[in-house]
Amino acid sequence: MSLLEPIPKHFRSGFVALIGRPNVGKSTLINQLVGEKVAITSPVAQTTRNRLRAILTTPNSQLVMVDTPGIHKPHHLLGERLVKSAKMTIGEVDVVLLLLEACHLPGRGDSFIVNLLRQQQIPVLVALNKSDLISNEDYLVKEAAYKTLLQDSGWPIYRCSALNGDGCNVLIEALANNLPIGPQLYPSDTVSDQPERVLLAELIREQVLLQTREEIPHSVAVKIDRLEEVPDSTPPKKRRGYTAILATVFVERKSQKGILIGKGGGMMKSIGQAARLQMQALIDGPVYLELFVKVVPDWRSKPARLAELGYEVN
Ligand code: GDP
Ligand code: MG
Repeated sequence: MSLLEPIPKHFRSGFVALIGRPNVGKSTLINQLVGEKVAITSPVAQTTRNRLRAILTTPNSQLVMVDTPGIHKPHHLLGERLVKSAKMTIGEVDVVLLLLEACHLPGRGDSFIVNLLRQQQIPVLVALNKSDLISNEDYLVKEAAYKTLLQDSGWPIYRCSALNGDGCNVLIEALANNLPIGPQLYPSDTVSDQPERVLLAELIREQVLLQTREEIPHSVAVKIDRLEEVPDSTPPKKRRGYTAILATVFVERKSQKGILIGKGGGMMKSIGQAARLQMQALIDGPVYLELFVKVVPDWRSKPARLAELGYEVN
């Protein structure tokens, strides 16, 4: 929608923060709601580092969703930043969507977050995610336990599955109803506020997390060094245009570099291939990708290094 189009009466718009323990499915839900992969997901906790805004436009509302890093006890400097950034997000939005896991009983991490939210003057909606993993009877048991945790908060509970989309439409409507009346903030076809470079780097980091699993997880950062569109070559040597991407994967130790590169370069090749396919889907065209691995000891504890890699320094 261009700015010249009339704003429909009763259109609602505003900001929604997704809050929840690491791994509850915040990024998966965002992707499900906007219908495109804008947030990276993985079975490894703390996948999300940057605050990402994903935008969902419906005929009568626009939701700007903020994916926050999971709230957890900080271990490293990076951990502290993640928590701080999540807390700041709560103060900047119109409504909070608290994501909890229907497939588990509430734990201490959940109480920590619930208490944190109770101290804020902000509407909270609760989504019990991953309901696809359990039976209806089991769901009712878990829901009762969460109701006890939430006590007299008055926060409504919604059942959903970020993975298969169950319950998501009801959730969108409920979230939209909690937004103020207001105009569209982004054009209808915008799904993310992150520059393409960030999304592309995140796709590489996602493959590192997925393919190396336990060995590397949080010591990795990715920077896109070069992003260049190579146009179609002119006849007679006709060749389709493509996007050339050069990126560096940073790790903290030499041993991690070894794991990343793998036997005969096999791991790096496999990570590169998978990331390239995801990038092609995002860019909607062919991609040439070259990856480098660099060791920067303790980059997580060095503020200047973090800033250079694009992590917000406050
Ligand atoms: P985040 O840390 O909260 O952003 O969690 P992610 O979105 O990265 O998800 C963590 C893991 O849970 C991934 O492996 C997802 O595929 C999985 N997951 C997320 N939502 C669902 C769901 O509704 N059902 C199932 N079965 N798995 C889910
Ligand atoms: Mg996430």
